[in-house]
Amino acid sequence: MWMHQLTALLQTAFLSALKMLIAPLIFFSLLSGVLQLRNATGSLGRLGGYTISYYLLTSGIAIAIGLAVVFFVHPWTNHPPLSADQIPPPPSGLLSQTDGSLITLLQGVIKQLLSNPFNALAELNILGILFSAILLGLALAVTLPTTSTLPARIEEITQAVYKIAAWVLKLLPLGLFAIAFQLSDRIEATTLVSLSQFAAVVFGATALHGLLVLPALAWLFTGVPPWRLLPAVSQPMLTALVTSSSAATLPLSLTTAQEKLGVERARAAFILPLGATINMDGTALFEGIAVVFLAYMFGIPLTTTMIVVVFIVTMLSSAGAPGIPSGSMAGLQVVLISVGIPLEAIALVLLVERPLDTFRTAVNVQGDLIGCLIVDRLLKSQSADSEAPPTSTPIKEENP
Ligand code: ASP
Repeated sequence: MWMHQLTALLQTAFLSALKMLIAPLIFFSLLSGVLQLRNATGSLGRLGGYTISYYLLTSGIAIAIGLAVVFFVHPWTNHPPLSADQIPPPPSGLLSQTDGSLITLLQGVIKQLLSNPFNALAELNILGILFSAILLGLALAVTLPTTSTLPARIEEITQAVYKIAAWVLKLLPLGLFAIAFQLSDRIEATTLVSLSQFAAVVFGATALHGLLVLPALAWLFTGVPPWRLLPAVSQPMLTALVTSSSAATLPLSLTTAQEKLGVERARAAFILPLGATINMDGTALFEGIAVVFLAYMFGIPLTTTMIVVVFIVTMLSSAGAPGIPSGSMAGLQVVLISVGIPLEAIALVLLVERPLDTFRTAVNVQGDLIGCLIVDRLLKSQSADSEAPPTSTPIKEENP
């Protein structure tokens, strides 16, 4: 009995701490990501433009792959969803006050986007938080003088918020134990089967993106074939696999980009830190599948409009996820809220979160490195004459 009460307390503490992090983590992560664009103004504007376009394109492709795979492969629907007594009341989702038509949906979206930023932060209005962070970041990027130290201060606050998230996530094993204990007497064996099927689908779709889509994009844009690209990026990918952190892998990604991919140092120094902050293909893909899975388990039918909402919010929330182990758990809650899935659903995903995080982080890092290569080659091909002679690398030498 006391064990039950203790684990209930621990579960509440852990899930509340995750919820506490949502607003500050997403706000500061996006704000500092947008501020990094200051480094790419003027003659470097094209660098910023290509980088952001690549990040948007590949995150969009990743979510589309996740949603397409889960549309065709959803073995868990052979098992019943959770029973009514296991399901807490849903939060009010983005669509809950609308009649489902496009106009009322857009009205709802506009109201949330343009709400008072302080209210948005306090009320966990995710669209409002995302919008105000991006708007403030853009405004600061164009108004601050180049000598301003404010971006560095904001980056320091962001790192402090990441630190708090890392402390909370250090408690993950304890939180997991409590969640597993709490679920053990309520959860059916079939739910565990459904969970492992969900994990298998995420693995498969992540592999599809990392082994086929990203290498194909690189081949198309740079001419570097997958059999030479993948070995070149394997070290940072393995490090990401082991650390589950894009941020911790960043130093290795930077040296790999220069030494093995032949990317210019200044470009790599812009593209990769920005990517480790806002470009998370593996995370975006995972979140898309997780929401569809959880919607089924919690008996929430997803309409086409809701899928569009999932797509957009997943894109933004993956950009706001910090590159630390399980950093996307706050962002996933954002997507859950947007379609009215109870936040407690996160407990279910947390049971399979550790192994999934390893693979998606590897693909997050791979996406950043391939983006770095593509943007670098595009810029080099446009200004071939004025470029300094490139660093000699295996990939570069064979693909002049
Ligand atoms: N661990 C991931 C990363 O560092 C973030 C996440 O999806 O949790 O890239």
